[in-house]
Amino acid sequence: MGTLNHPPRAVVFSDFDGTITKEETFSLLMREFAPEASRQMIPRLLSGEVTLRDGVPAVLETISSSVFPTMEDRMREAPVRPGFEEFLSTLDRLGIPLVVLSGSIEPLLMATLHPYRDRIERIIAAKVDLAGPFLKVSSPYADRDELVYKPGVLQSFGSATKIVVGDSVTDFSMARMGDLVFARSILAEKLEEEGRKYIKFESFFEISNYIELHKKDLLGIEP
Ligand SMILES: [Mg+2]
Repeated sequence: MGTLNHPPRAVVFSDFDGTITKEETFSLLMREFAPEASRQMIPRLLSGEVTLRDGVPAVLETISSSVFPTMEDRMREAPVRPGFEEFLSTLDRLGIPLVVLSGSIEPLLMATLHPYRDRIERIIAAKVDLAGPFLKVSSPYADRDELVYKPGVLQSFGSATKIVVGDSVTDFSMARMGDLVFARSILAEKLEEEGRKYIKFESFFEISNYIELHKKDLLGIEP
C-alpha cells in the first residue's frame, strides 16, 4: 500500500459514494437487492449497535451471486458528480495522484469508474467472491469498526500533503488527518460542529478551482 514510485508532493484521497457519485449508490443497491436484510440491519447500523465491518457483509451476503452482474449494470449507469472528468485533468496536469477509498465493494466501483480507470492511481474497497451461491465479502483494509479503515490507508502514504474529499460520517476520521478537506452533506455539518477547517463543495469544478488557485501552497508551483 502507498508505494508510489516517485513520492508525490500531494495526494487526493476521495470517498466514492455520494462524493464521486451523485447518489448514495451503495445503500440504494442494498435496499434493492437485499430489502429484508437492509430493513433489519440499517437501523442497527445507524444506532451503532452493529459496526459497518460486521453489518455491511451481513447484508451483502444475503444477495445471490447470480444477480451481481445486474448490480454492476446499475453502477455502470450511476451518475457522477459534475466536473469529475475535468478534476482528473487538473490532477493529471499538476501531478497529483487520486486514491479512491470506499466501504463498498471493488467491482461496483470499477463499474462506475471504468471510463476513468487509467487516470486513478488506486481504488481501495472491500473484495467480493462470487464463486458460491451468495456474495462473500472480505476486506484487507478492515480495522477498528470499519470494513475499509480509511485513516489506515492515508497513513500508508507517509508525508505527502493529504487532500481529503468526502461526504459522510465514515469520512470523518480521514478528514481529521487531511491537510486540506473538501466536504459536503453530513461530513460538512460534522466538521462545522467540531470547528474544523474545510471547504464546502457540491461539484468537482469547485475543488479543481481551489487546487488550481492554491497550487503554490500545496505543491510549491508558481501560479
Ligand atoms: Mg460517501
